[in-house]
Parts: sequence; C-alpha cells; structure tokens
Amino acid sequence: MSGIYIHIPYCTQKCIYCNFYSIATKKSKDNYIKTLIKEIEKRNTYLSSPIKTLYFGGGTPTCLNKEQLEEIIIALRQNFDLTLLEEVTIEANPEDANSELLEHLLKLGFNRISYGIQSFNNEDLRLLNRRHSSQTAINAIELSRKIGFSNISFDLMFNLPNMTLEKWEKNLEKAVELQTEHISCYSLTREEGTMLDKLVNKKIISLPCENDSVIQFNKTESYLTQAGFEHYEISNYCKKGFKSKHNSAYWRTEEYIGLGAAAHSFNISSRSWNPENIEQYISNIENNIEPFTEILSEKDKYNEYIMLSLRTKEGIDSKYIENNFPQYFSHFKKQKEKAKELFKTPWLLNDRIALELMI
Ligand code: SF4
Repeated sequence: MSGIYIHIPYCTQKCIYCNFYSIATKKSKDNYIKTLIKEIEKRNTYLSSPIKTLYFGGGTPTCLNKEQLEEIIIALRQNFDLTLLEEVTIEANPEDANSELLEHLLKLGFNRISYGIQSFNNEDLRLLNRRHSSQTAINAIELSRKIGFSNISFDLMFNLPNMTLEKWEKNLEKAVELQTEHISCYSLTREEGTMLDKLVNKKIISLPCENDSVIQFNKTESYLTQAGFEHYEISNYCKKGFKSKHNSAYWRTEEYIGLGAAAHSFNISSRSWNPENIEQYISNIENNIEPFTEILSEKDKYNEYIMLSLRTKEGIDSKYIENNFPQYFSHFKKQKEKAKELFKTPWLLNDRIALELMI
C-alpha cells in the first residue's frame, strides 16, 4: 500500500516553536498551487502499489480557499488511481473551521480531520502565538462532528513553559471529554532558530526539566489508556480501529510520494525531497529539475527499519529482519540481548535502544 502527502506551506502567523517549512504570507499562493498541480502531473508514475491514503499537511491546508482545495483534488484524481483510498486527512487550525468549509471538505472526500490545538489553556495558546482560544478549539471539534466527520484527531503539547502536572491533567481531561477518535501528544521541543529557542536563550522563558517532562509523558499514557485510548506510537493514541493509516505506513516503511515544497518521498530504494523554499521549488518544477535523491543502501534500510519500528507499539519484528536483512540478523540478535535491560522501559529509552541495534 502507498500514500500521497500534499504540503501546503502557508500559515497566517508563525507559532514560536515551529520548524516546519511554512511561511506567514499569502503572496505566492496562486503560483504555488499551479506549480503543485504541475508536479502532480509530472510525478504520477512514482508509486507502484495501490494508494490507500491521502494527507494534506503543512503549514495550514485550511488557509487555502475552497476553489484551491478543489483544484488540487481534481488534479490528484486525474493523475493517480484513487479508487482504493481509505483515509483522506486534512490538517486544520481551529479558527478556520466553519460549516461551509467543513461541508466542502466532506464533499471533496476528506474523511479525517486533524486539528492543531496544542493546549486548552488560553495563556499557553497566547504564549505559543496560536490564533485560537480554547473555546474556538472546542467549537471546531463539536462543529466537525455535527457536520459529519466521524474520524477527528487533534494535537496537544506537554512540556510547555510553566506547565505543572495539574495543568497538563486539565488538558487531558478536556481532551477525553471531547470524545475524538485520535489524539497526538507531543513534547514541546526547542528547535534551533525558532522564536522559542531565542526566548529560552535570552532566559525570557524556560522549559520544564527532563524529569518533569518524563512525568508528564507517563501521565499522558496512564490517563489516556485508562480513558480507552490505545498508545500505538510514541506520540499517538487512538480509539480502537482509528490508528492514523497514513502515518502508520511511514512507520512500516511503506512507499509514499510527497508533493509540494519541502515534501519528502520514499519508494523503498530511495528517498527524495523538494527544496524547502517556495521560489526554489517553483523554479525547479518549471525547469524540470528532479527532487534531490538519496539511494538507500541495505544498511540504511536496516537502520531506518529499526528507528521507525521502535516508535510503534508493535516494535521490531525479528522475523522481518531475518527475512529482509539476513546479513544483519546475527548482529541484531547479539545487540538485542545486550540491550535487554533497556527494553524494560519502552518508549523513553527508544533512542538508546536504537543506538545499540543500528549498524
Ligand atoms: S500552524 Fe503549524 S505549521 Fe503553522 S506555524 Fe504553527 S505549528 Fe507551524
């Protein structure tokens, strides 16, 4: 199975922690959509297995207007076989949600919506430079349900400045109350060059210590699993039958094509990616310049399999390694035995386990 990812690199304003490729201007939007459609037409033979998922991410895909979204969907339908699609996701910001847009999204075939909520605390939202309030987020989820979305997800963040366990629990309580099918909980991380990084460097804000962050992670797991969610990936929780199919395919190292600026593609034997710059992306497509490509060695593939599988509840499948990487199987067995103490604390020690098992 395979998936298509569409990158929409526009946001109304930049969140302080964000290091995704997105810009807070609408200037180049029309030209970008035109170019994206050209790329869809050019790369329509990249995937070799049936397409099961389509994912619009960003940036903020819901900052496109109805016509722009429709144009992209039409181009995809004309160039790829989408008859076996099972999951069609769009990332959305709560402040963009209104009946007209949500109805249009359903009409275009989106059957999953994923909101960037991050916190139900208005002070946190202001600090993060989000545009929505807690109530706007709640309204967006309730409206999506009312309009007909039966698969709703949202993102929350722990490890925020001044976050206490009590404050985080209040977020989790609200999250569960909303009865969505899926919740992603990420730790706020300080990425180099972001506004957050600058504010921490200048000692204007500080992040919780590692120990507090671990306590918040553990609380997330116990709270959400008791509320009926399955912890199926390090940052992801779902109700039965509602794993993100698109993201699960990444962790199972299945093929996908990423279209748009900064989008990555993977076809089992290589990875390729477009420039993280809209002008450069547009110029490359205009001039028939192929995406940057890295051919993967067997060692690369083995290491990727280890890293990605450790993110999931299923973990590493020894049989898969034996069948697909027989040359590394004895190394794997030996290292696994050495790392067996680390396996007693899954999730948190994944990086250390990966280092032991990789080549
Ligand atoms: S909305 Fe998402 S992509 Fe846009 S700036 Fe915020 S975190 Fe980044």
